[in-house]
Amino acid sequence: MTTRLNHVFIDTIPDELEEGKLYISTRFRVIMHSCCCGCKNKVVTPLSPARWKMTFNGSSISISPSIGNWNFDCKSHYWIQNSEVEWARKWSENEVAEGKLFEREKREEHFKKINKEKEPTIEDNLKIPNKEQVKQSLLVRIKNIFKNLK
Ligand SMILES: [Zn+2]
Repeated sequence: MTTRLNHVFIDTIPDELEEGKLYISTRFRVIMHSCCCGCKNKVVTPLSPARWKMTFNGSSISISPSIGNWNFDCKSHYWIQNSEVEWARKWSENEVAEGKLFEREKREEHFKKINKEKEPTIEDNLKIPNKEQVKQSLLVRIKNIFKNLK
């Protein structure tokens, strides 16, 4: 069982994960590590406003919320705070179901929010006339000027 983690910032995803090490890729917005229980399963933690967030204080790493490996046989559950592994209770069947639901709702909420923010930009994009339309509207305007002159 790992109680303390080292970390390394990486640009490429490694094939092999050393135990007790957090592999952090800001480029891929992901943290990978070998399950802290020692089962050697690869734990992939995506960083996103709707998933996990990571704090690097210059020397140690904290990840929030907790890491719940309910998809593995070990069903291990722990917090990573200041690079220390704080073991939490194993998930019960109910908690696993609730956890999955909570995560899904949180994600859906997040994407709903994003879509809302995006809507006006899509509208704005539609309002931006392409060059051909600008030319035409210019022509119409010029024609109108001439019409008014007649
Ligand atoms: Zn494990």
